[in-house]
Amino acid sequence: MSIVVSALKEEQPHEKRVAIDPDVAKRLIKAGMKVLIEKGAGVASYYNDDSYQQAGAEVVDRQTAVSQANIVAVVNLPSDETLNQLKSGQVLLGLLSSLIKPEKMQQLADKKVSALSFELLPRTISRAQTMDVLSSQSSVAGYKAALVASDAYSKYFPMMITAAGTVKPAKVLVLGTGVAGLQAIGTAKRLGAIVSGYDVRPASKGEVESLGATFLTSSVSNGAGSGGYARALTPEETAAQQKELAGFIADNDVIITTAQVPGHKPPLMVTQDNVNNAKPGTVFVDLAASDLGGNVAGSKPDETVTTDKQVTIIGGNNLASELSNSASQLFAKNVQSVINAMVDKDGNLAIDPKDDVFSGLTATTNGEIINARLREALKLDPLPKDEPAKDETDEKADQPAESKGAE
Ligand code: NAD
Repeated sequence: MSIVVSALKEEQPHEKRVAIDPDVAKRLIKAGMKVLIEKGAGVASYYNDDSYQQAGAEVVDRQTAVSQANIVAVVNLPSDETLNQLKSGQVLLGLLSSLIKPEKMQQLADKKVSALSFELLPRTISRAQTMDVLSSQSSVAGYKAALVASDAYSKYFPMMITAAGTVKPAKVLVLGTGVAGLQAIGTAKRLGAIVSGYDVRPASKGEVESLGATFLTSSVSNGAGSGGYARALTPEETAAQQKELAGFIADNDVIITTAQVPGHKPPLMVTQDNVNNAKPGTVFVDLAASDLGGNVAGSKPDETVTTDKQVTIIGGNNLASELSNSASQLFAKNVQSVINAMVDKDGNLAIDPKDDVFSGLTATTNGEIINARLREALKLDPLPKDEPAKDETDEKADQPAESKGAE
């Protein structure tokens, strides 16, 4: 029996993406799988039900999409109601917020549902690059951040020389120059702004300069952590950083912030004083805006705030979703890549917990939390290195999910 893959309609109010697009549906079907799409799942990404049917997928109700699939693909962690419907042996794949909500992963482990959470992917393994949702979606978000900023800004981005006079170009500062930040820099440059970038990882200097932007060197001597990410700064370093950024912020018209530190809340880089001292008309776009706080004091997720000093702060946490068609196309390719790596040569589903990509990506399989970071978050002892969790998923993969029964 062929593997059944489903994609659900996202439940969050601001989410417009879908985990599988018609192109990937077609590719999975060509590879021998069956694809179920929840009715209307792709509409907000401009993929209507007909386009999935033309690709060979079946458009079904939610209950069928959840219960009949071996692999359920989502963008975000589904609601408790949906999680409760999942059964032993099924695989849930998406941005599952596993480190923010580790207890949900434990609930799935207790039901022997396998959960693969894109936030946990070991990104520096080259084989995993095609699965890297964080990169694909950050890149979309960075591009959109520059567009959203230019739209909210009351002046031109490029220099304009006209018969009626000359308009100076906008000055754009990007704080955090990883995947999203570099894309924001490239887009703002293409729009004609004068752009500078700032990061605590010295390695990012060359990348910023290669895009024609100025790199502002941080006083934090080496903020690089492991795996290419930044480390969390000490309170003293944070205070010094906020102080040195004050002048840069006051001197710029648009500030796009993207700074994240894995496993920590986003660093506060723009203080309330910095916001108060910004020029009227300044636009902040905070890609790190979250319920835990963001990079900019006063930013609110999914909201645009205008202060009484005429400063605009855009909570840009969900900007990838605003470019829903392209974001979904790339997300779906990442999903396809994981599925391809999960299906063995005989067409059976096999999560290998010893594989260096899957030991990271997999939050739980076969009733056990196997990701080391997640075990730490749940205060579980590390798994012995020579006895990785036994995987039984492949033994059950060719049975319909419902027949496996809840345990
Ligand atoms: P991220 O989303 O975790 O952070 C965004 C940026 O914020 C990073 O550049 C980080 O250095 C910066 N930052 C964090 N705290 C900061 C602070 N206090 N002050 C200033 N800047 C701060 O990171 P990301 O964009 O996903 O990736 C970071 C790096 O890892 C990039 O260089 C990227 O190219 C690299 N990466 C490599 C691979 C790979 O090797 N396959 C995959 C993904 C990312």
